[in-house]
Amino acid sequence: MYKLNGCCTNCDKEVFEAIERFPSDHKRAREMSVAGPPTDDAVRCFLLLTDGSHAGVTLCKDCDDPDLMKIWQKIIRTQAREEEYRNPQTSQPKNRIESLLKFANEAPLGIIGARPLKEVIDDPRNRI
Ligand SMILES: [Zn+2]
Repeated sequence: MYKLNGCCTNCDKEVFEAIERFPSDHKRAREMSVAGPPTDDAVRCFLLLTDGSHAGVTLCKDCDDPDLMKIWQKIIRTQAREEEYRNPQTSQPKNRIESLLKFANEAPLGIIGARPLKEVIDDPRNRI
């Protein structure tokens, strides 16, 4: 239903090393609260959206043909839920709302590429 932090967006398998987890009495008990580096299973998939822009989602290497609308709905639900956990002192409402609206107004047309996430992170062309 919701995307789990540090997990494949499709099947919820962990694809990042867990640095910290939410405590057992937390609503998100056992889910990682702080994700470390990606595992060898992590794949970054690049989606083409209806407005021509791209979005990257993290999947595991076994989920190479996911139901894109299903994972898109999961991402939107998760972004909306994240509002509960944000600190109003430090968050920027305008950016959050714009991001949520963009996702809600677009849909993925297809996967246009996929690379192991470790390669994407290590690629100097991805650094600003
Ligand atoms: Zn998966």
